[in-house]
Amino acid sequence: MGQLSVTLIDVGWGDCVLIDGFDDSGRRRFGLIDCNDYERQRTALAFVKRYFERLGIDWKAQQHNFEWVLLTHGHADHARGLKEMIRTFGTRHFWYPKSVASTTYGVLLDFANRSDRVLNHQAIDETKILGAPEVDFPAELRVLWPNFNEIDTSNENNNSVVLALTLGGTSLVLTGDAEAENWPVIIERLPPSPTYVQVPHHGGRNGIFDPADQTPLLDRISPRRTRLVMSSHVVPHGHPHPDVVAELAGRGFVSYRTDLNYHVTLTSDGSRVRVGYTHVSGRLP
Ligand SMILES: [Zn+2]
Repeated sequence: MGQLSVTLIDVGWGDCVLIDGFDDSGRRRFGLIDCNDYERQRTALAFVKRYFERLGIDWKAQQHNFEWVLLTHGHADHARGLKEMIRTFGTRHFWYPKSVASTTYGVLLDFANRSDRVLNHQAIDETKILGAPEVDFPAELRVLWPNFNEIDTSNENNNSVVLALTLGGTSLVLTGDAEAENWPVIIERLPPSPTYVQVPHHGGRNGIFDPADQTPLLDRISPRRTRLVMSSHVVPHGHPHPDVVAELAGRGFVSYRTDLNYHVTLTSDGSRVRVGYTHVSGRLP
């Protein structure tokens, strides 16, 4: 069955998710979602470099260390470190949603067009198949959002790719900043009982509560079957929002968050998912 591990790297605020999958034959492939590093603080880059080195991978000798890299959407807290990440490690596939051109998004696409560290790149949506023979990855990858040929030109969060990773009977859903108004459609595409779901938009209020104060995602999943993880964005946005924290606690959801638990790693063996996080002695912030 192999193993799948997903690490929400504590980048201070924003998103960077490292995915490590291998199968019984020892075939090991890596994926990455988003990166908010900036020039003077390359937290995620250092994390990935050390991760490869601890596995004994001679990453400098490889042209494409990642099988795939995904940009969920064009906002800086997801995008601005991705160019350096790809320039350093290289990727066979680079995926992103259709989007209105922001500076960061445009720079990344321009880089992908002319760099030999990207083998191929394409915009993805829920109709695209991310699998063999083109994509070599030992877990199923399924795009749940955005819809085919739809672009929200006023709110980039709503273009966020939502991705489900499935290994055996376990599934992990990574959500970018997809806001609650679109979740009535996305929940129809969720695995029946996802094992872990990333709280959308870092726990921002509009990730969970739609404009009518409905909570489509939380109504669809059960705290007995599904646990939650969060890439926090406390400074400057105050995510997670206190209303979200209270709602999750009130419903009995167990959740892990990068501002409290630092690097959070979910490891699946196909039948269950273990959670690990960075232990810090003394009081948590
Ligand atoms: Zn964000």
